[in-house]
Amino acid sequence: MDRPHPVELTVDLQAIADNYRMLAAKVKPAECGAAVKADAYGLGVAKVAPALARAGCRTFFVATLDEGIALRQLLPAAAIYVLNGLQLADPREFAEKRLQPALCSLPEIERWSERFVNDGKSDKDSPVAAPALHFDTGISRLGIPRDESRRLIAEPAWFDGLKPALLMSHLACSDDIASPMNARQLQRFNEICAGLALPAKTPRSIAASGGIFLGPPYHLGMVRAGAALYGLAPLMNDANPMRQVVRLQAKILQVRRVDDGDSVGYGATHRFAGPARLATVGVGYADGFMRALSNRGVAHIGGAEVPIVGRVSMDLTVLDVTGLPEKAAQVGAAVDLLGPLQSPDALGERAGTIGYEVLTNLGRRYRRIYLDGEVAGGRA
Ligand SMILES: *Cc1c(COP(=O)(O)O)cnc(C)c1O
Repeated sequence: MDRPHPVELTVDLQAIADNYRMLAAKVKPAECGAAVKADAYGLGVAKVAPALARAGCRTFFVATLDEGIALRQLLPAAAIYVLNGLQLADPREFAEKRLQPALCSLPEIERWSERFVNDGKSDKDSPVAAPALHFDTGISRLGIPRDESRRLIAEPAWFDGLKPALLMSHLACSDDIASPMNARQLQRFNEICAGLALPAKTPRSIAASGGIFLGPPYHLGMVRAGAALYGLAPLMNDANPMRQVVRLQAKILQVRRVDDGDSVGYGATHRFAGPARLATVGVGYADGFMRALSNRGVAHIGGAEVPIVGRVSMDLTVLDVTGLPEKAAQVGAAVDLLGPLQSPDALGERAGTIGYEVLTNLGRRYRRIYLDGEVAGGRA
């Protein structure tokens, strides 16, 4: 039975595909790869990755080996890079699924090479998909550190038999077009690549969503778009050119009147100075609707902004609907939490975080509806 559901999350796959095509056109002739780690930023990789493949994407980036194994099931022919490197796993686990780890240290390169190089086979004969090499150029997080890059440059024997498919680095400040870090990291990366005993045509990649908008010098051979595909703004302090992808709508479960001296929610953190009307929706921090939105967040009902009052609790959030006509805010009426009137970036800002965290925390209890353009409203 298709009963009404109190909370619906709509993911517009057509918008993701449009965003992909926009970015791919922008970076041409570079290739546009897609980051689908963390369940495609919380939106559901099982739906999102095939939609991206249909839009023309051939190269995908995940964070973990498990994500890579799951994605291989969905996309038998795609190139899949695993950003977190070998992660203490046996390199054969990658090879079996044709997953391409982004090797991030000399010890990882050694482990890979012990397994797959010097076994008498050339790369051509080998079914093993070539890894990426991930260089740290300033984010100091993951990636081959500076001293190890110097050794790779000084000792070409590292590349006997090892032919990386991609050289990559990651920008620390690419959402800030004014940051001097960007040009500094790009220069370091290009110097490293030029110094390695590898064919000059080995593809390079430094740009994620922000980097795509820093201009053509950052596009190199491949970009790794994530956030922008899912509608997040690639640059801060700049208009967002991406199509919005998610809509989160809750139905009002109950409406009540309160009066002077009443309070709402755990801790009684909001007290009313006069008569007010409250509407309760079934969304809480267990759904990734952050507790930090308590007394700070807003929602929309029929286009009108309504404030969150009191604490967001595990399963419930309360809105002050005093300003709305009773008919507009009755049981069953739709409340927009995310959508055209409030982007994930905007909600994140109110919660003291970023749109990435809003998306990757999107709840598992929502009914998820995927719009794919052909059968609008197709249910997951
Ligand atoms: C997550 C990630 C990306 C994608 O970043 P967005 O900002 O979401 O576009 C690209 N490269 C690496 C190494 C990443 O970790």
